Amino acid sequence: MFPPNINNLIELFGKFPGIGPRQAARFVFYLFSKSQAELDELAEKIKEISKQFHTCPVCLTITDNTVLLCHICRDQQRNKEKLCIVEKDYDIQNIENAHIYDGLYFVVGKINITNDQPNALIEKLMETIKNNKNLMEIIIALNPTTKGDAATMYIEKKLKNSGKKISRLGRGLPFGGEIEYADEITLANSFKNRG
Ligand SMILES: [Zn+2]
Repeated sequence: MFPPNINNLIELFGKFPGIGPRQAARFVFYLFSKSQAELDELAEKIKEISKQFHTCPVCLTITDNTVLLCHICRDQQRNKEKLCIVEKDYDIQNIENAHIYDGLYFVVGKINITNDQPNALIEKLMETIKNNKNLMEIIIALNPTTKGDAATMYIEKKLKNSGKKISRLGRGLPFGGEIEYADEITLANSFKNRG
């Protein structure tokens, strides 16, 4: 086996989403091939993350510290009548790349639906909805997985009395699929068939 310190590092990389122990070990051994200057630069960049970025106070996407609101919330050309709820920043990236949607977003993250306690993310979502006077439609675009479907139902229940049209993505995406990995045509169909 590897020395304990290397195992610790492998464990840390193994906590990254989608990374198994084998890939984590590959990352660690890749780092061994790097110069001290490159390692220092990487360590510095990681240390700066929390200092250089914050979450947009309106939609909760990760945003550069030089501005308060993210580039989408600041963009006057965006269609303020639509709000699309996604799980991850990455999902926004993919939907934007598909050029199928021009509204606003909200990153709801992984919400805890197992207990019906007041939920900070849902509260924030309600606030964002309340503050947008132009809003007509809320599109719930969570992954079509067991957890994603449960979260969608939970959010639908919470937004029932919001007075807005609530829709969810059509079944263009296969069950168990993820928006993050969906191709543009599949995403376009999901948006078109929402209801
Ligand atoms: Zn924003």
